[in-house]
Amino acid sequence: MRYSKALIPTVKEIPADAEIPSHQLMIRAGLMRKLASGTYIYLPLGWRVLMKVMNIVRDEMDKSGAQEILMPAVQPMELWQQTGRNVDYGPTMAHFADRHGRENVLAPTAEEVVTSIAAGEINSYKQLPINLYQISFKFRDEFRPRFGVLRSREFMMKDAYSFHADEKSLDETYKIMYETYKKIFSRCGLKYAIVEAESGEMGGSGSHQFTVPCESGEDIIVQTEDGSYAANLEKAPVDALPKAKTLVNTPSPQEVHTPNIGSIEAVCAFLKTKPEEMIKTLICSDYTEEDFKKDYASHIATHKDGKDIFWKSHKYKYFTILLRGDHELNIEKLTQVLGGQHIGLCDNEQIRVITGAEVGFAGPVGLAEKVNKFIIDHSVLTIEAGITGANKTDYHIKNVVPGRDFPIDGKNVIIADIRNAVEGDTYKGKKLLFKRGIEVGQVFKLGTRYSSKLGAKFLDKDGVEKPCIMGCYGIGINRIAASAIEISHDDDGIIWPISIAPFEVIIVPAGNTDEILAAAEKLYNELKAFGVEVLLDDRDARGGVKFKDADLIGIPIRITIGAKSIAENSAEIKLRRDSGITKVPLEKTKEKIIELIEELKSAIGG
Ligand code: ATP
Ligand code: MG
Repeated sequence: MRYSKALIPTVKEIPADAEIPSHQLMIRAGLMRKLASGTYIYLPLGWRVLMKVMNIVRDEMDKSGAQEILMPAVQPMELWQQTGRNVDYGPTMAHFADRHGRENVLAPTAEEVVTSIAAGEINSYKQLPINLYQISFKFRDEFRPRFGVLRSREFMMKDAYSFHADEKSLDETYKIMYETYKKIFSRCGLKYAIVEAESGEMGGSGSHQFTVPCESGEDIIVQTEDGSYAANLEKAPVDALPKAKTLVNTPSPQEVHTPNIGSIEAVCAFLKTKPEEMIKTLICSDYTEEDFKKDYASHIATHKDGKDIFWKSHKYKYFTILLRGDHELNIEKLTQVLGGQHIGLCDNEQIRVITGAEVGFAGPVGLAEKVNKFIIDHSVLTIEAGITGANKTDYHIKNVVPGRDFPIDGKNVIIADIRNAVEGDTYKGKKLLFKRGIEVGQVFKLGTRYSSKLGAKFLDKDGVEKPCIMGCYGIGINRIAASAIEISHDDDGIIWPISIAPFEVIIVPAGNTDEILAAAEKLYNELKAFGVEVLLDDRDARGGVKFKDADLIGIPIRITIGAKSIAENSAEIKLRRDSGITKVPLEKTKEKIIELIEELKSAIGG
């Protein structure tokens, strides 16, 4: 491509709303422009990068034996109602009624649709296993789109779904996908970590995330110091801390006046205590899936566009959750403890009803009888005599002894690991270390959650009808591009890995004499004819401007031809990632470049 004809609108200024390097550089290098919050237009360079990522993904998926299909971006709501996932996705799922009043969903993912294909087309074990994938746009009305294409509302995803007759077959495909993902991310030039993950929204029994460790990542990766175990923060288990000794002489609980002092920090400052001596009490509620469905159906019938109204219109069951004041609740762990049930924090009105006090003054004493389940994090048992809310506005109580002043066993009491791991925790006796990462892909074992609800059944060898066992495997195409920039850039711009760079080579004629232009043109045509992806900077601009742009857009190999090279009959080759320059005779340049590209590619697995 000729630079003079290309739409590569580079800019010097850092865009005001771009907080992280990849977002800034994707705008500055003219890869994309923002259309609206969380939606981006990919300009030629940006689209070339995405296509190169997609080609690598497609190549490896095809090699793994998966088959490519394409499913619609607009899906019928009924499919989502059948699995109840319209509810799980909540406001993240965008939906609209068509002219006939039928509800439609803008695909945030495609388990339901692909399972409907299996329901229609698969009836015998002989057709299994099968792994179907697509590469297509997904839409999620993210609560907070940010970081450019790392968390956008519209993004390109590779999603694959496998169907199996038995667990063993699922395990085999899961392993193949796991290995395929390793190849994909390596070929994209990424350094990644594989961590155990909760299967969350998807349901199911096993999952791994592929994450790119870097500061801008929104995920927290937790690793034992010997590297033998890694999980994301949602999953990372912790060893139980040593329990407190029961002190015989602890005085009875005593009320203290804490006017307008509700937060852990404020109470600690006021009562001169530490968060680890406090018992944090959360009041949560739940509602059955059936209630959800009913409410949601009537909601969409009456409030076509009012999503939040829906969240307020269901019946509740109550849960008390106790944590140490210095710990955070881990929703994923809690959901696992509750066997997959989703619960959420109550609103102020409900908290008043349950505790008899304003928010900030809830405590465990006397609450166990009022709630459906009383769930205590392990670490609360390290407290000998704690401070907690008095269930009375503006009051706390001290000398609260677990087991004496509130139950730590009994029929509705659960003691479990339901908090986030923190600095200082161990797992299986090994210290846990923390770092940030970007999730670029995830693999899940789904089981029969979707197939049983959507009737994707088959007849096994003995003629017995069974639901297909499923797996699913996602990759964020845009996130790969952005994370490649996050881990590989400098003050001058992007440093692309050769495999996903918009062009492999840029030729910069430094000067505009006929000889220089002719030599550059000749090399450009030769390289192009050989299949090299080459950009010729034929703009009528100073060398300095061209070098700056070449660095900003990050093309891995730069060839410079100037007056000196013409005099010496040579070209200068510079790698974007290195500072050194190599001079090569002009007639040998093509061979040298082809060699270099091969070298750079094979270093990351082709
Ligand atoms: P996250 O936890 O970051 O919201 P997710 O776990 O919900 O992501 P999946 O449903 O596993 O995402 O989707 C598969 C892949 O799609 C993810 O691994 C990620 O790379 C990509 N992806 C998901 N949401 C977004 C988004 N909002 N913007 C860009 N890519 C995304
Ligand atoms: Mg995920």
